[in-house]
Amino acid sequence: MQALLIEQSDGAYHVALSDISPQQLPPGNVTVNINWSGINYKDARAITGKGKIIRQFPMVPGIDFSGTVHHSEDPRFHVGQQVLLTGFGVGETHWGGLAEQARVNGDWLVPLPEGLTERQAMILGTAGFTAMLCVMALEEGGITPDKGEVLVTGASGGVGSTAIALLSALGYQVTAVSGRESNTDYLHQLGAVNVLPRSEFTAESRPLEKQRWAGAIDTVGDKVLASVLAQMRYSGVVAACGLAGGFALPATVMPFILRNVRLQGVDSVQTPAGRRIEAWKRLVKTVPVSFYQQATTEVTLSEAIVAAQRLLDNKVTGRTLVKIG
Ligand code: NDP
Repeated sequence: MQALLIEQSDGAYHVALSDISPQQLPPGNVTVNINWSGINYKDARAITGKGKIIRQFPMVPGIDFSGTVHHSEDPRFHVGQQVLLTGFGVGETHWGGLAEQARVNGDWLVPLPEGLTERQAMILGTAGFTAMLCVMALEEGGITPDKGEVLVTGASGGVGSTAIALLSALGYQVTAVSGRESNTDYLHQLGAVNVLPRSEFTAESRPLEKQRWAGAIDTVGDKVLASVLAQMRYSGVVAACGLAGGFALPATVMPFILRNVRLQGVDSVQTPAGRRIEAWKRLVKTVPVSFYQQATTEVTLSEAIVAAQRLLDNKVTGRTLVKIG
């Protein structure tokens, strides 16, 4: 079987499409024939060796995949059943989805929700799942569409694009923040009412700025997140899930103590099973059919290395889907 294999020898990082035997797959009670995977920001960093995503070698990257069960010792899954997987360290500490097969723990698998194809599941992938968790975090913080405008940063990316489509479908007024003016039409098509340049959010911000946003989904971190916090309206909620701009947070406590602002972290890797299933059901119900045509680039396993570099170079819009099966 073919797999993207990352190896390290004498400190040198090496990634290549390799032939491996299924016997080499790590322990697990379910083996899946993978049909689709994706290139997420984390995968791109793992494949290119930027950032210490992979610490055990050799490793097959790919933090998400969809496919059909090939072999199962877990009574919850049967041969031929369609499944998807995101997170749980797959593609980081356990061989992942950029391969023809994966052997995993059944606890990590989600039965493919009704109404979703395997391809659509990976168009959404970890990015879409995370966007849904961010929307749920805003809802749980009381941010309903009538509360005011919602901001989405890193708008052209996988998480940002899906967040815009979801929020817009749910009736929110969405403003997108993007570093790429060329994507303005695309972001409007996804449902953003306004698009603002990233440069407006990267200048040094004052502790408190004019109150603008009822909610925000931030995929960027650093100065952008600090600016967003300073612009939140009273009792606004920010769901922070990413660090595409950096992991720092040069902010002050002022938005929290004077404007009752809530900063809610969002992690998709260890999300408990019940919430996972709920988020996937909501995705199926909410994502408009047009989204699946709008926001996807499709590559093969052998093109994944180039696609990873393109993503880090900020040349990719939406999701990169990897066709395997
Ligand atoms: P993408 O690379 O697809 O999107 C990131 C977007 O951020 C880009 O499209 C770009 O949008 C913007 N961006 C890129 N570089 C910079 C920069 N230097 N400064 C500011 N903005 C930048 O990644 P994903 O959507 O897959 O992931 C987004 C973030 O969310 C990542 O940091 C990722 O690690 C994180 N993440 C976290 C998860 C969790 O569980 N917490 C799960 C999934 C992702 P534009 O050009 O429009 O500005």
